[in-house]
Amino acid sequence: MSTILFPAPIFGPVHSRRLGVSLGVNLLPADGKLCTFDCIYCECGFNAAGRTRSPIPTRQMVTDALAETLREMHSAGKPLDVITFAGNGEPTLHPDFAAVIDDTLALRDRYFPLAKVSVLSNATFSHRPAVREALMRVDNNILKLDTVDAEFIRLVDRPVGAYDVEQLIETLCTFNGKVQIQTIFLTGEFEGKTFDNSTERYLLPWLDALRRIQPEQVYVYTIDRETPAKHLCKTPPATLDAIAERVRALGMPCSVSY
Ligand code: SF4
Repeated sequence: MSTILFPAPIFGPVHSRRLGVSLGVNLLPADGKLCTFDCIYCECGFNAAGRTRSPIPTRQMVTDALAETLREMHSAGKPLDVITFAGNGEPTLHPDFAAVIDDTLALRDRYFPLAKVSVLSNATFSHRPAVREALMRVDNNILKLDTVDAEFIRLVDRPVGAYDVEQLIETLCTFNGKVQIQTIFLTGEFEGKTFDNSTERYLLPWLDALRRIQPEQVYVYTIDRETPAKHLCKTPPATLDAIAERVRALGMPCSVSY
């Protein structure tokens, strides 16, 4: 099994399928993975296989490294579409997440005022006031909602702590549309159970949740690289396209990555 761990605190720039030329900010250690989920499809691998030994980079380390990279890119005339918080786990785990976001917005305004700031999060801490307010300040607040089926979440996303999807949907509604939803579709078998979250059983409640949340954008995608769990399969492009059409029929923009 090959997994991907990202350098910290800055990586790239890389060309993202969804976001363009993207400079990555990894708020977690470079030598492992830290997440409040343990998704069986995670490109960083299973949590147990990626225990970290290094500390989380401090706010100062992140800000200094980001400033230096942006200064160099600006001087060299390089393009930048987006600064993306992603990397080896859940970015909102960082104790100074909100302050790092403010530093990043200030640096963006100074060096690349047209670039966006995006956060990719599994939303588990989106109910915390400081996290929520920081997410409201970024351009692309991209939160994960793979399904609203509790059994699927336990089997596939595998939250490490308590996770109540109905409470999460209520939190997502409080963003008043300043939220983008990302949902991975996949089929497979894990621990003797099969699943396919592109079927009506999963789709109808998920579409209903979108209707309630009213996100400004929806991203549907499927697995793209080798996964830590075996026996996982991509959802076919035609199925993803059909799902996207149903989202658009609700009046929401929806983009698809195969
Ligand atoms: S939420 Fe993201 S980083 Fe965390 S385990 Fe799932 S895919 Fe990996």
